[in-house]
Amino acid sequence: MKGAISILIALGLMLASCGQQKSNIQKTEIQKQTGMNTNNDDSGKVVKTDEDWKKFLTPEQYHVLREKGTESPFTGKYYLNKEKGVYVCGACGNELFTSDMKFDSHCGWPSFDKEIAGGKIKTVVDTSFGMVRTEILCGKCGSHLGHLFNDGPTESGMRYCVNSLSLDFKKEDNK
Ligand code: FE
Repeated sequence: MKGAISILIALGLMLASCGQQKSNIQKTEIQKQTGMNTNNDDSGKVVKTDEDWKKFLTPEQYHVLREKGTESPFTGKYYLNKEKGVYVCGACGNELFTSDMKFDSHCGWPSFDKEIAGGKIKTVVDTSFGMVRTEILCGKCGSHLGHLFNDGPTESGMRYCVNSLSLDFKKEDNK
């Protein structure tokens, strides 16, 4: 009798263990299907591992957005873009600037004189390359966007100098 009970307990443990494995496998499958291990926490922040960012971004995007790289001037696809629409974070889709905020800066990178209100962008002091600059990051996913200068030619006096590789553009629907 004791033997039979032991066998039943052992079987129960095996089944529980299988159930656990299955749930882990299902979780991995979901991550594979969605392409990443995304964690949108309660604050709305997007949190991913470096490995997941690499799966999701091109090597060029990854370098600029996640390694604080800078694209060569006059090469970015949005530098001369004059279409109406919204510029969003190239990593997480957070809406950052509208086309009305863009101006011709002649500096080689897309430039904006203000940001969409609501804490979309955060700033940190950047002391790299022997300079003291204000770095701008996506407020939602922390990706590097570019730098903010106070030498803008418009009323705001600000110049958000942003890598095209840090952005995506949602063209305005004119229908
Ligand atoms: Fe972002």
